[in-house]
Amino acid sequence: MESSRVIIVGAGPSGLTAALFLTRAGVPVTVLESRTGLYDDPRAATFHPPTMEMFAESGVTKRLHELGILCPRWQFRGRDEGVIAEFDLGILSDITPYPYRLQCEQHKLVAVLAEMLSTSNIFAIEYGANVETVNQTADGVTVTTSEGRTYRGSYVVGADGGRSVVRKSQDIDFAGFTYQERFLVVTTTTDFEQLGFAYSCYVSDPREWCALFKVPGKGPPGVWRVVFPTEPEAAAEDLLDYTNAERRLRAFVPSAEPHPIVHTNLYTVHQRVAATYRVGRALLAGDAAHVNNPLGGMGMNFGIHDAVSLANKLARVLKGESEDLLDLYDRQRRYVANAFLQAMTIQNKRILEEKDPQKRDERMQEMRETVADPAKARAFLMRTAMFEGLRAAEQVA
Ligand SMILES: Cc1cc2nc3c(=O)[nH]c(=O)nc-3n(C[C@H](O)[C@H](O)[C@H](O)COP(=O)(O)OP(=O)(O)OC[C@H]3O[C@@H](n4cnc5c(N)ncnc54)[C@H](O)[C@@H]3O)c2cc1C
Repeated sequence: MESSRVIIVGAGPSGLTAALFLTRAGVPVTVLESRTGLYDDPRAATFHPPTMEMFAESGVTKRLHELGILCPRWQFRGRDEGVIAEFDLGILSDITPYPYRLQCEQHKLVAVLAEMLSTSNIFAIEYGANVETVNQTADGVTVTTSEGRTYRGSYVVGADGGRSVVRKSQDIDFAGFTYQERFLVVTTTTDFEQLGFAYSCYVSDPREWCALFKVPGKGPPGVWRVVFPTEPEAAAEDLLDYTNAERRLRAFVPSAEPHPIVHTNLYTVHQRVAATYRVGRALLAGDAAHVNNPLGGMGMNFGIHDAVSLANKLARVLKGESEDLLDLYDRQRRYVANAFLQAMTIQNKRILEEKDPQKRDERMQEMRETVADPAKARAFLMRTAMFEGLRAAEQVA
């Protein structure tokens, strides 16, 4: 079985999920991570129901429930209008044991995965291993790090994020676009629940949209993260400055007292999908395969779904089934990345930033009608909670 060892590049949510599912299927795995430890950037914080279902058997879902905050309702709002529609995921309780979003920072998931993997005797992880080259023959792959270390395996999984070296090593095109404006994330201890906000909210405004959600932070009562678009020409240091961030927050929610700021982050945001997820023995998953804006909280979830699909198929191939399964992985996951992940996140941003007053009114009206009609609300939640995309992937032959 050792000759089947799979090399995974990247110890983020996608890489460690693939490692967990492969080792649980008996496949030896080595993860190579360029950082000297696990990455603690909080970035993603929303887990959708299908992701919790996938992680249930391994016990990860139980750990996430111990660490996270349940968010059964989320709101679509107008900045001046207030709540336009409040969606209750409870209406999906007949199809999932997890009819809510679970809010928990992604670095906590990564720590849980690493802890679980550490008990496996067929799992190895190397930190400070910055992969530079990937070569393959008919029999296997060879991966070399910038420190000159070489690793051999049966397949390599590129779970090394948006700038994936594995993707570039195989000359895989990454077509799409980059938004001019960067996204600013301001973290505050202001309690937006007191002001009528649900734990996850999207706020439309033609001048400055925003999205906000509550996360556990360092423990109860938790903190709120507020995402704003920024002026393309603004200097990063000005955008990240706490006084400026507080001013931006106060313009959004007027307050006699300053909002306490605990953190600011700035992200460049792209919409791109790799031209293929497979070249021979090199496979892509997660942000290495697709990147998107964070509105809807889908990138990490999608990467986890890639990783589960890939690990299940790769384990079967390593036990003797046809490599066609890996092409099926490519077709299924790439199709839904384009038809769902890209389409939905691009649309989510357009709705929030709509400047044409008539179109904006129409969007607001659509949201009101959707939430008021049980059949429409259910269809909408099936899509936004990521069930529909997963089912569509299964239909791809
Ligand atoms: C502000 C913001 C909010 C977000 N919110 C959400 C959300 O709520 N829900 C959601 O689903 N998604 C969200 N996302 C998206 C989510 O963060 C990403 O989709 C997710 O991190 C992708 O995971 P990954 O494991 O594929 O890649 P990454 O998390 O980027 O991990 C890649 C790993 O590979 C390592 N690496 C890179 N290059 C090399 C190399 N050459 N050699 C070895 N190791 C290497 C990196 O150090 C890193 O550890 C958000 C993103 C942002 C920016």
